[in-house]
Amino acid sequence: MKGTVLYGPRDVRFEEREAPRLIKPTDAIIKITAACVCGSDLWPYRGISPVTQPVSMGHEYCGIVEEVGSAVKAVKPGQFVIGSFFASDNTCPNCQAGYQSSCLQRELVGGAQAPLLRVPLADGTLVATPEVPRDDLIPSLLTLSDVMGTGWFAADAANVKPGKTVVIVGDGAVGLLGVLSARQMGAGRIIAMSRHEARQKLARDFGATDIVPGRGDEGVARIKELTGGLGADSVLECVGTQESMMQAVRSTRPGGYVGYVGVPHGVQLKGDELFFTHVRLHGGPAPVRRYLPELIKLVWNGKINPGKVFDLTLPLDQVAEGYRAMDERRAIKALLRP
Ligand SMILES: [Zn+2]
Repeated sequence: MKGTVLYGPRDVRFEEREAPRLIKPTDAIIKITAACVCGSDLWPYRGISPVTQPVSMGHEYCGIVEEVGSAVKAVKPGQFVIGSFFASDNTCPNCQAGYQSSCLQRELVGGAQAPLLRVPLADGTLVATPEVPRDDLIPSLLTLSDVMGTGWFAADAANVKPGKTVVIVGDGAVGLLGVLSARQMGAGRIIAMSRHEARQKLARDFGATDIVPGRGDEGVARIKELTGGLGADSVLECVGTQESMMQAVRSTRPGGYVGYVGVPHGVQLKGDELFFTHVRLHGGPAPVRRYLPELIKLVWNGKINPGKVFDLTLPLDQVAEGYRAMDERRAIKALLRP
């Protein structure tokens, strides 16, 4: 089998590697229908997160169950399934509390940019769709594996409620789907921070009411202007840099909420500044599994179409071009079809 392997900065190869097989009785093997490149794959691709040995890439996936271990009861061969990038048992206290990405047995799922994938803890991790979906639903269903679930968690963690004012920091795929999530949750005003025309347009399609191109202090000043000097009720931080995190905190009104889902790189918060903001912070790796049943229903019934975030589709063997296009910001997000 051929799969995607990252060797070092900007060195992605599609090459022969061992096909995954069942290791534990709780595993499943799925035949990938579609996978994609994640914004977080760009951290090691750019050499910002070091790569010390070749890594099998890909953690967003959907596909058909091919084989299950002897202990797997909930999913069966032939079903179309979606799972999170963290495998979880869905039964431990953290899972029961809705934080499956902190499951006591959690395991990172990797190697999804390939024709076959091993998913640990299959019963807890995978959710089957009502039937095998039509092809046009595949991109939207794929987003539920990470990027849409993460945007949704950002909005949920930021306590988005009907009629409220929401700011989204970050115009990558997660930020754009944060806009969609805020709209679906009934936000009144949705302010997307973006300086790229194509992304601004998609943000508007997804429900943004205002666009603020400024960043840093300039961006914060504009948000304050738009919110009567107060700041927003809910702010979604979808980048993970020092600048974006502070932009989020400073754009929030006292008593408001920041939902942060950008993987932090060098972010440091000053205790005294935080103390006087009265801002509530909640975030982390999204418990995508918690939202899967609800989000599958919304996609299945045509209520949301998060698959619009894919503006590039490539055959899997051209995965390296997907990374390049996203790295150079020529593409928002690349879909890969085996
Ligand atoms: Zn658990």
